[in-house]
Amino acid sequence: MSNFSDGINKFVGNFPPKTFAGGTCHMIGAFGNVGIVETNEGLVIFDLAMRQYGNRIFNSLRQLTDKPIKYIIYSHGHFDHCFGFSAILEEIEKKGWDMPQIIAHELLLRRFQKYKLLDEYHNWINSMQFASIAGKNRATSAQNTLEPTIIIRGNDNYQFKLGGLTFEIYHDMGETDDSIWMFLPEKKVLFTGDLMISSYPNVGNPYKVQRYPKHWAIAMERMIEKNADYLVPGHGPVIEGKDNIKEALSITAEAMHFVHDEVIRRLNQGKWFEQIYHEMLEIYPEKFKKHAYLRPVYGCYQFAIHAVYRLYHGWYNTGNPTDLFPSKSEEIAREFLKINSVENYYNHAQKLFNEGELQLALHILDVVIKGAPKENSGLLLKAHKLKIKILKQKAKEETSFIAFNILNNGANEIKSKLDELKKIQN
Ligand SMILES: [Zn+2]
Repeated sequence: MSNFSDGINKFVGNFPPKTFAGGTCHMIGAFGNVGIVETNEGLVIFDLAMRQYGNRIFNSLRQLTDKPIKYIIYSHGHFDHCFGFSAILEEIEKKGWDMPQIIAHELLLRRFQKYKLLDEYHNWINSMQFASIAGKNRATSAQNTLEPTIIIRGNDNYQFKLGGLTFEIYHDMGETDDSIWMFLPEKKVLFTGDLMISSYPNVGNPYKVQRYPKHWAIAMERMIEKNADYLVPGHGPVIEGKDNIKEALSITAEAMHFVHDEVIRRLNQGKWFEQIYHEMLEIYPEKFKKHAYLRPVYGCYQFAIHAVYRLYHGWYNTGNPTDLFPSKSEEIAREFLKINSVENYYNHAQKLFNEGELQLALHILDVVIKGAPKENSGLLLKAHKLKIKILKQKAKEETSFIAFNILNNGANEIKSKLDELKKIQN
């Protein structure tokens, strides 16, 4: 099994439903996790996963219990957490049950509006980010939402009781600004949403809007105080045992403080992104690299460096005035090819590849791919093939789901161009 598939199989929820806390709580893994609390007055559901898994979630749920759903809580508004509702609604209608209360943070409403405004755009970026699991299906659309009925404002807490159990709900920022998490004091169970996943936090997703590393650390520290026995993460298996939970939360808090504070230190030293990035790679502590709860299965440390920089910095990130009003990269490549031949560039890229310098080889290959005239189709074809080979190799070595998809999509996109090049050649 490759590094990638090893980690991601756990992450996407390829495990059977789990019952815990004396039979009162369940978790269904459906890419995003669905948490279920059974009380003698009905069910509380924490997250609904993605639309594509709606029927599967419903069938699993009804194998566990036939009680009606009284509350649904959205940990945040991402499409893998609150869109798998269709079969649940059908059942409510069929049985004539009351609609459950649906609890969310006020910023989730703004998020849903944004998704409606940017529906096609989000479909496009999500089809890239989730390419390896979305297949040909539309990855997501937020045109059809189940709207909240109880709105948590600002930093307010919220609490309700059902069947003798207390449900404490808190707001914190982390992966999103609309995150809420839940704690059951009588059962000592934490439901964290994506504030905890079986991976290094998804704090610097290359496709997505700003995330909040410092707030993430604070959320972890607030959760530690609850001294939970079970933790239901947003993705991945239930974490059990006080010590394990404390370890997962505290190492995540520590990692978030680290990346945040070290980037800040370098910003204050007047450093630009490239220098900060490469220095940060050098100082990444071994204890984080090897830690079971910080494996780069989904997000990764490199992405987190970008996240912190972007939180505090404008878009001019090189400090080099050349980059202020840049030329097209194709024009730059064509000028390079005027002073040295396409063959020399290609051969040099091949040499770098043979030496294992994959990233440098990609940079040099791009000069050929972007700058060589179409008439030179023979060499262009070779350059494209070498780029595919390098991207596939990098993808194979990659553990982060998001990075894997970017590399693999890139290789597939070039493959689809090869036929065009072959036609020119013939
Ligand atoms: Zn998620």
